[in-house]
Amino acid sequence: MVPAAVHGAMPISPANRNNDWALPPRPHAVRPVPTGNTTMFALTVVPEQAGSQELSEVPAPKLNAQADGYALVRALDIGVCGTDREILAGKYGSAPPGERHLIIGHESLGEVLHAPEGSSLRPGDLVVGIVRRPDPVPCAACARDEWDMCKNGKYTERGIKDRHGYASQRYLVRPSFLVALPPTLRRVGVLLEPTSVVAKAWEQIERIGARARLTPRTALVTGAGPIGLLAALLGVQRGLEVHVFDRHAKGAKPALVRALGAHYHTGELAEIGLNPDVIVECTGASAVVIDAAMRLAPDGILCLTGVSSGGRRIAVDVGMINRELVLENGVIFGSVNANRRHYAAAASALMRADRHWLEGLISRRVPLGRWQEAFAEQPNDIKVVIDFDRHAP
Ligand code: BGC
Repeated sequence: MVPAAVHGAMPISPANRNNDWALPPRPHAVRPVPTGNTTMFALTVVPEQAGSQELSEVPAPKLNAQADGYALVRALDIGVCGTDREILAGKYGSAPPGERHLIIGHESLGEVLHAPEGSSLRPGDLVVGIVRRPDPVPCAACARDEWDMCKNGKYTERGIKDRHGYASQRYLVRPSFLVALPPTLRRVGVLLEPTSVVAKAWEQIERIGARARLTPRTALVTGAGPIGLLAALLGVQRGLEVHVFDRHAKGAKPALVRALGAHYHTGELAEIGLNPDVIVECTGASAVVIDAAMRLAPDGILCLTGVSSGGRRIAVDVGMINRELVLENGVIFGSVNANRRHYAAAASALMRADRHWLEGLISRRVPLGRWQEAFAEQPNDIKVVIDFDRHAP
């Protein structure tokens, strides 16, 4: 357990409270938390209660005996993703056992304030916290630090499932769950967690491809959100001809894709006329998933990374999909989360990438004092980041 457990988060004064993130945000003056302060600000929700999000004043972590072996980290950036929006909508997420509130935030970038003795970390190091923790049983996967493949569902996830996240001014993390980044990645390091998710997806694609001696040439990525664009980046870094399909013909996405040397498509997937060796599906949209399954080349692999909202029914000729997959050795598989190996691969991918291109993925930076704006979606959003280093509006 993280000793920084927040026992009943204390909400900020009602005057400053703004529970409705769809409304124009009211700026809130948040001050930096001085070292030794007993409280700090954190973004909290009451899981399963839509609209319960608020900026709460909660106990700050202390460097006491309980925190022995932990690093104390100062939050710099927190990325916002679809999972966070689901948590705010009350559809996903759970608080630590016995608690009512969950501190959100699983895409992080922070600065080490204190490193425990014996660790390779130093104060001032730039770090990203790993999201998942192994289940306590542990299952065969978690026992090997492959918590991303947990078999019994008893894993926990910071900011998502049964464990407080990183969206607080300070947090404690065991060094084995921190990944250090070079200072050159200060502006884009918050992209490490979503990159780790696609690094895992590509690793698994390669492992599955090996069974058919697949040497892929073409890859299609469906959806040009942060996950799709990062999947395209990793495809290009592998020397593949990469195609990206998205609904939006305008905005920054087409240019970002072309800047990678990849091809951008809109309209109907069926009309693109591609039979890729690999498809990385990042929309979770039922119709796109089915279309993608029908477009694979022989021995092709379709990797599903998008979580569908469910409840949408479309008519599907399952027999036809079955026939295609069987006769052509096709594989459809799902991929979630990432372990330490994938974070390391993601860090190398970010270091090899063009820094300016990566910065282009961060479409908005919102200071913590205006955090509500980060959750009010705007048409040109790609990755929105809450800036914990800039407090005032
Ligand atoms: C996170 C993953 C997590 C998944 C399911 C995603 O948004 O990036 O780390 O495993 O949600 O909770």
